[in-house]
Amino acid sequence: MRLYADHNATSPLRPEARAALLRALDAGGNASSVHAEGRRAKALLEDARELLADVLEVRAEAVTFTSGATEALHLALHSAREMGFGPVFVGAGEHDAVWSQARSLWPECETIPMDRDARLDLDWLEARIAQSAGRPLVIAQSANNETGVLAPVGRLAQAARSAGGALICDAVQSFGKASVAGFAGYADWLVVSSHKIGGPPGAGALIAAPGAEIRPDRFGGGQERGARPGTENLPAIAGFAAAADAACRDPAVEAFQAHCEAERDAFEAAVRTVLAEVVIVSAHAPRLANTSCIALPGREAAHQVMALDLAGAAVSAGSACSSGKVKASRVLAAAGWGPDVAGCAIRASFGWSTRPGDGVRLAELYLKAAAQLAPRVVEKV
Ligand code: PLP
Repeated sequence: MRLYADHNATSPLRPEARAALLRALDAGGNASSVHAEGRRAKALLEDARELLADVLEVRAEAVTFTSGATEALHLALHSAREMGFGPVFVGAGEHDAVWSQARSLWPECETIPMDRDARLDLDWLEARIAQSAGRPLVIAQSANNETGVLAPVGRLAQAARSAGGALICDAVQSFGKASVAGFAGYADWLVVSSHKIGGPPGAGALIAAPGAEIRPDRFGGGQERGARPGTENLPAIAGFAAAADAACRDPAVEAFQAHCEAERDAFEAAVRTVLAEVVIVSAHAPRLANTSCIALPGREAAHQVMALDLAGAAVSAGSACSSGKVKASRVLAAAGWGPDVAGCAIRASFGWSTRPGDGVRLAELYLKAAAQLAPRVVEKV
């Protein structure tokens, strides 16, 4: 039986999400049509919006559905640029969806550095903002996809807002895994994604706080009150809202954390007992309960992932690009780790479908895979 420990990449579809998706798929209709079928589709769309808004404790009008987090993030970045925010500060550990786009929009943007535990240096950020003129834009994720490290979103927001600026928060990884209570109040633009929480792929949302405008970056049929054109992916959106409800309603997040933490800790402890040389990245930082970023110096990450795959477990490494190639981790390199860690770290991420005992089973497979890999010098990052 396969062991799936890659929930931070995509979490399997939750039964609640599947049921909602199929209901919307069967209902058919286009939410922009005026006939009965269209009105039914529109009602389902607005139900989903209200459900997600309720989970995030925001007004329904604040929610714009998109095709995923990447689109929502790009819409937020574009909107902030149109509103004239700057100077721009981007977290060193941001996902490529943000990192590359922010750099292309603001080649002069500054990087918020991280320490060895991959925690953002907020003292640096506050000092830079104090020295700068203008309305600063801070772009930072609430939890890192590779290390799981949690950011103090309230302090990030305070740093930006105290100087008349704004915060774009990529909450993709903490949504449904850690409490996001109050987040929407901190972030000017907040982004969440469906497939990271057991919803279907193809849906995400941008939550805009009062005063944070959405300036469209493309034009078409006027859907989503003109914020983003294109017929809404209603089955995915309905599934997304149902997944969010299942993942976030009390006490779902606490139960998720307790369950995942037990498996994650069992995994790390069992590996460490046998392989004293492993580095558990960010072990001492506040991090997501489900995420383990573990490096085995001298064994390339891509090889570890392949060996584990053959042994029956799915994990990931660095950032896998669409060609399926594994690159060394830009995030770990930015945290100051050399090739022996940044090029040799894999990520195990547990989730709602993780079975009791999966942590120990994954450790057994990891140790088996490690025994097959001859250590060698890893040079490049
Ligand atoms: N932000 C983070 C932190 C992520 O982990 C991901 C997905 O890997 C994204 C953004 C992009 O999400 P989506 O696949 O919904 O575009």
